[in-house]
Amino acid sequence: MIARTTPSVQTESWQQLLRNAIRDPKELFRALDLPWQTDLSPALAHQQFPVVVPTPYLSRIRKGDPNDPLLLQVLPSAPELLTVEGFTQDPLEEAASNPLPGLIHKYGNRVLLTVAGHCAINCRYCFRRHFPYDSNTPGREHWQKVLDYIALRPEIEEVIYSGGEPLAVNDQRLGWLSAELEQISHLKRLRIHTRMPVAIPQRVDDGLLSWLGRGRLKSVLVIHCNHPREIDLEVRNALQLLHANGVLLLNQSVLLRGVNDCVDTLERLSQALIDASVQPYYLHLLDRVAGAAHFEVAEERALELMRLLRERCSGYMVPSLVRECAGARSKTIIG
Ligand SMILES: *Cc1c(COP(=O)(O)O)cnc(C)c1O
Ligand code: SF4
Repeated sequence: MIARTTPSVQTESWQQLLRNAIRDPKELFRALDLPWQTDLSPALAHQQFPVVVPTPYLSRIRKGDPNDPLLLQVLPSAPELLTVEGFTQDPLEEAASNPLPGLIHKYGNRVLLTVAGHCAINCRYCFRRHFPYDSNTPGREHWQKVLDYIALRPEIEEVIYSGGEPLAVNDQRLGWLSAELEQISHLKRLRIHTRMPVAIPQRVDDGLLSWLGRGRLKSVLVIHCNHPREIDLEVRNALQLLHANGVLLLNQSVLLRGVNDCVDTLERLSQALIDASVQPYYLHLLDRVAGAAHFEVAEERALELMRLLRERCSGYMVPSLVRECAGARSKTIIG
């Protein structure tokens, strides 16, 4: 295993950083030198979907700039309270493909496990902002049912840890589950969908590398990064360490109005990802979840951005533009 060679100047563990994340909207405004709103909208939006911003992410937000693209992803705001036609609580109709608590089986050869009920950062546009996590994060005895479900279906080749934030779960539990999955001979890959290397890069430590990338299953880590400024030195080091340990790194972004709906930003994002050994994978059109309508970018604009991006970047630096359609057998490629 390739370990961290220099001790991090950051002495707080990832657990402490997660515990000490900002969870109060007023504190968030104060920390970023933003005037507290006189109307109640941030507090009401926070009631619907709570604020969570860990300090490593907070440190990359420009103070005093209400339009900072990182800030817009985490700041509760008035437009979230609007009811907009077509924006619903469960836009992907996942409830229909949820045969057991903690398991979503929508696509033939891969299953998604919701191993965590909360996130290390709460993104305001999240399509799971109304997801009933409480009934979907089973304890150890229920995981046995999930393991049996997978073991009985030889068509399943890949298991995806999702959430919530799967890497908010401790290494003992994740290591246990991964070891159980290793025993199922028809499984080939273990994938993790995580925003943790961006939210709290300190999560990539010896504990994580004690099980991730170790076993028989090929490890794939799909990070979620929307803007080049989300990748600072600490994030890049964490990603390089995963790469050095044999983990295949991919990125998915969501195309967000005011955040990354600009070809310069998308180009710099692809460059920053490749520099950190991460392959751009998907650029998602926003899932139409209630409270996120103000982030939507029109499909024609998205196609135009993709055309411009292809003119500027090497082919391998261009993600696929996709939309998730309820009931479809895979993501739907646009254009
Ligand atoms: C996106 C998704 C996957 C993974 O799809 P890929 O196209 O392989 O990345 C698997 N299951 C569910 C429910 C998903 O939403
Ligand atoms: S990290 Fe992912 S699951 Fe968590 S709030 Fe952000 S978009 Fe949603």
